Amino acid sequence: MSPVQGADIAATWTATTLPGGPFLSRRGPDLWLEEVRLADLAKEFGTPLYVYSRSAMRAAAAEYQQALANRPHLLCYAMKANSSLAVIKTFADMGLGFDIVSGGELARVIAAGGDPAKVVFSGVGKSRIEMAEALKAGVKCFNVESESELLTLSAVSSSLGQTAAVSLRVNPDVDAKTHPYISTGLKGNKFGVAHERARAAYALAARLPGIRVVGIDCHIGSQITEVAPYLDALERLLDLVEQVEADGALIHHIDLGGGLGITYTDEQPPAAGMLIAQLLARIEARGHGHRELLMEPGRSLVGNAGVMLTEVLVLKPSPEKNFCIVDAAMNDLIRPAMYQAWMGIVPCSQRFGEAMTWDVVGPVCESGDWLGRDRALTLKIGDMLAVLSAGAYGMTMASNYNTRPRAAEVMVDGDQATLIRRRETVQELFCNDILPA
Ligand SMILES: *Cc1c(COP(=O)(O)O)cnc(C)c1O
Repeated sequence: MSPVQGADIAATWTATTLPGGPFLSRRGPDLWLEEVRLADLAKEFGTPLYVYSRSAMRAAAAEYQQALANRPHLLCYAMKANSSLAVIKTFADMGLGFDIVSGGELARVIAAGGDPAKVVFSGVGKSRIEMAEALKAGVKCFNVESESELLTLSAVSSSLGQTAAVSLRVNPDVDAKTHPYISTGLKGNKFGVAHERARAAYALAARLPGIRVVGIDCHIGSQITEVAPYLDALERLLDLVEQVEADGALIHHIDLGGGLGITYTDEQPPAAGMLIAQLLARIEARGHGHRELLMEPGRSLVGNAGVMLTEVLVLKPSPEKNFCIVDAAMNDLIRPAMYQAWMGIVPCSQRFGEAMTWDVVGPVCESGDWLGRDRALTLKIGDMLAVLSAGAYGMTMASNYNTRPRAAEVMVDGDQATLIRRRETVQELFCNDILPA
């Protein structure tokens, strides 16, 4: 190859912008996360492998914190996006609270050294046992989603001689303009108290002995890439705050939920700081500036901080379709199969040569088991690929389908790479099975 050609190719390497930058970069042919070459990690820890940048997570959280710095606030990381103990600890060390959706997530917060007093407990179906555990741990607040749940929670807390701090999750009936499976703020989905029922629900809460109203909240969906739905939801929420306070309730905090999107391909979501500035301007303008503001970001704190590494096992070209079969599958990363999500797939070390168009698929026995379709890649068997923006809803949604052990996880910080979850063994997958006599 002539030097000129080489220089041209090198120029395209550096010109490629990667979601996850500046922490994810291509240097020459190689993909790096912070100061660690990803191909080296794939070799050292095996594949499939999740790798997260601690600095990227910290930077994402810092942007929210800075935008909220001069007012009462609590940032509650929605840990269902990535609930690895090392990730929880990263955010707990920065002073964040957590948005949890199960007793299991509460146990993780406590195990990682997080503060239960900064936990808000969301979810449309909490069990009595989960309610009792959360009361004993002293969570900040329950985000209650129905009048039926209010009655149950009041009974549970009364039986423990406590009162439960409650914020009602209101469904503001706004369209978050996102995938129907991850849109949660419209009429006709299972989440929240309908806007027109909210006053009655607050009135009920005021009558219940085990309930103490402290706030109001909403969460309108996920992977939201526009400001407008947030502003619509905020106006509707503030209308309600004014009404229920006129009815006699005391609304200490407003929780605007999570849902801010990230860049998978060409999405251009607003920066967190910009979104918050616009929300705060409206809150101030309507005279609600004294209230504590809560937010529950998940994906936007971790999504672009992570990649999933996978090895090319089989190349299966055919006249109709070229299949690249890799060692990661829908059980490891279900977003493409479940939401038809597009995620970037790039080689850990770029090869020279003409690209072909491949469907990148896993070994699981389902035609829905794909990671990416129609991707232009130059490949050889044994190559390592990185699926980008895999830090959110990757490992937490992984399963053992096809008796596949779940992947290992590594956290990178500067030039240090630390194993934060070892790969499961096959024996662990059936150690709870019982063979009938
Ligand atoms: C999932 C969830 C979040 C976080 O959503 P992201 O889109 O990951 O930011 C926040 N609040 C509640 C109640 C949720 O269920």
